[in-house]
Amino acid sequence: MPDERELFQQIGQAAARMKPDLITLRRLLHQHPELGWLEFQTAAHVCATLEDLGYQVRTGQEAISGEDRFGVPSREVLEAAWERARSAGAPLRWLETMRGGYTGVVADLDTGKPGMLVAFRFDLDALPVHEAVDAGHLPASQGWLSRIPGAMHACGHDGHLSIGLALARLAVELAPSLAGRIRLIFQPAEEGVRGALAMTRACAGVDRLVCIHIGLGVPSGQVIGGAVGFLATREYRASFKGQAAHAGLEPEVGRSALLAAAQAALALHTLAQYAGHEVRVNVGILRGGVATSIVPPEAELLYRIRADDNSVIEALDQRAHAAVLGAAATYGCHVELEIIGRAGSEDSHPELAALAADLAQSVPGVKSTSHHHPFGASEDATHLMQQVHRQGGQATYIMLGADLAAGHHNERFDFDENSLAIGLELLGKLLVRLLLDSQFKR
Ligand SMILES: [Zn+2]
Ligand SMILES: [Zn+2]
Repeated sequence: MPDERELFQQIGQAAARMKPDLITLRRLLHQHPELGWLEFQTAAHVCATLEDLGYQVRTGQEAISGEDRFGVPSREVLEAAWERARSAGAPLRWLETMRGGYTGVVADLDTGKPGMLVAFRFDLDALPVHEAVDAGHLPASQGWLSRIPGAMHACGHDGHLSIGLALARLAVELAPSLAGRIRLIFQPAEEGVRGALAMTRACAGVDRLVCIHIGLGVPSGQVIGGAVGFLATREYRASFKGQAAHAGLEPEVGRSALLAAAQAALALHTLAQYAGHEVRVNVGILRGGVATSIVPPEAELLYRIRADDNSVIEALDQRAHAAVLGAAATYGCHVELEIIGRAGSEDSHPELAALAADLAQSVPGVKSTSHHHPFGASEDATHLMQQVHRQGGQATYIMLGADLAAGHHNERFDFDENSLAIGLELLGKLLVRLLLDSQFKR
């Protein structure tokens, strides 16, 4: 049996050999971005690829628990996206299972020998961004722009998918030398923290969970073993209903939903005051009204709160509810609150984070590493990490450095593709260190 040194050598060679394929696949995926819960074509491609490689693949309601999904698009939007994937030639066998927005994929590879269950999580979705088309933007000048109007992989998830599928291939090569099981989790709807809660089942029995994200302000050549300080977050849609009336003839009859929503927006922004804690409040969307002669009967407000502590987010959430309900009452309106996203606060496990950082030092192209770094934003991977930590396992969230052409979620976003091979080699080495026959701990 090859020892770890030999396997690491094999992984290094494979990553170098697969580098052009990683870039080609990333660019192909970049041309076919799909928004959260609509990743039919992407997920079907993942299913078909993994099944061909010999993985046991689960998707649809076997992978996603329907009631734990947040911010699922309307039936019409789901069907239109499904039809688009079908007419683009995505395999119907997989598509049928995912219909209605069940686009998660869980794929297992069993070495046949007892050992740990090690899982890797990748995200499938793109963003509602119109991609820049001028020649200064590399995908435009090189001909691999998004082909879906109004959707763009502007966060790097196309890169994560490319690494994930390459890791799937590499793991098959390595499996005869390993013990235990490998699980690949492809999660929909990360943007808006909407998808992970519905996939927590996939982490049942997982001993080690590795998540990874490209960029995030970490430059090329740097790797953070585990992000810490994810902000807990909740995201809501508040729909205000008032009463329309002629604004000149009888304004007193009207109940302005717009004013109620505006009042709620101001009230919400006063709440971000907690000594000793990081707290954020943002009203991101406020819309309503019909004409200047009509008291606005309807308005909609979308807001998001964040905090560095799970009990602070709970308290903030209650105060935000009160602010919204109070504003509606002040103007004689009715309001409905719908939660459309949520994630908890969590830290990477220090032991697994340190292992990832230490292994990264041996990857060509990596110039510096650190064990942990504050994330400063939210990620729904925390649902999965919490699940693994509750079971006594370890989870980490690797920040894979990559210089960016523009920030995440920007229409000119692009990342240094050298990071792809680095990510693959690092995950491959982690896999070997965790599952090498001679070291298994169970
Ligand atoms: Zn993002
Ligand atoms: Zn992202």
